[in-house]
Amino acid sequence: QAKERGRNCVCHFDTNLQEALTTREALAADLLAGLDSGQFHLHYQTQVNTDGKITGVEALVRWRHPEHGWIPPDELIPLAERSGLILPLTQWILETACQQLFEWSRIPALEPLNMAVNISTRQFYHPDFVDTVQDILKQCGANPQRLRLELTEDLLLTDIKNSFAKMTALKKSGISFVLDNFGTGYSSLSALRQLPLDGLKIAPDFVNNVLTSPGNSSLPIALISLMRSLGIEVMAEGIENQQQREFLTEQGCLTFQGYLFGYPTPIESLTLN
Ligand code: C2E
Ligand code: MG
Ligand code: MG
Repeated sequence: QAKERGRNCVCHFDTNLQEALTTREALAADLLAGLDSGQFHLHYQTQVNTDGKITGVEALVRWRHPEHGWIPPDELIPLAERSGLILPLTQWILETACQQLFEWSRIPALEPLNMAVNISTRQFYHPDFVDTVQDILKQCGANPQRLRLELTEDLLLTDIKNSFAKMTALKKSGISFVLDNFGTGYSSLSALRQLPLDGLKIAPDFVNNVLTSPGNSSLPIALISLMRSLGIEVMAEGIENQQQREFLTEQGCLTFQGYLFGYPTPIESLTLN
């Protein structure tokens, strides 16, 4: 009987694995088709300064699959990376965001807004990355000074020299760089200092833990003050309540993002004043 059960288990496992693989392959094929048929959307979440004034937005990708519904970016991005489709996907994201920047540039009140776009490490290391970004900016007529690329910490662990070269090339045209989700990875401070970063975003968990126990706040406090002394702008994301906002303002954070100020929103319903 045990043998019987054992065999059943193996059989069950195989079926699930097979299903998972088929689903993933099918999803990857759907991704490519979805790019052509308008299933992808950018939602925008506002960023505010210490006065509560909107300084920019972060673009966050959304995929509405015709059968599976909304597929969250945490699933979509790894899928796109594994299947090599991160390149066309990021191209579409950058084009859409830069077209939006161009639209805003024609409205004086919206012209100063920054647009932050997340760049996956795989995309960043593509040999054409620098050219791709510059071409898209040019095609869209968008001001590079308004574009902020958000990079993740694993990039710092990979190839500092290459990262430095790419960032420097893009910074020459006015683009700025922010390190996303700071405090979740393993990046060393020496690696951080070697890159021409304009700012960093403190990860939501980092911020959300701050006020739950006093012991949790010493690391954020020390890091924020260290970063500021290095001339790096500190932004805080995942701000959900006034208490977090006040605490981080006291620590010297200059920019805030979180549900307290607004949820990621489609462009039609975004309020920018
Ligand atoms: P991220 O870049 O750190 O983006 C912030 C995430 O936190 C977003 O989740 C946002 O909806 C969420 N968030 C914003 N405010 C709050 C808050 O107050 N509380 C909490 N709990 N969460 C908040 P989302 O949109 O699901 O994106 C998840 C991650 O997927 C992003 O993290 C980013 O790493 C990746 N991602 C999203 N869009 C893109 C994209 O266009 N390209 C790439 N490469 N990655 C993307
Ligand atoms: Mg981000
Ligand atoms: Mg983040």
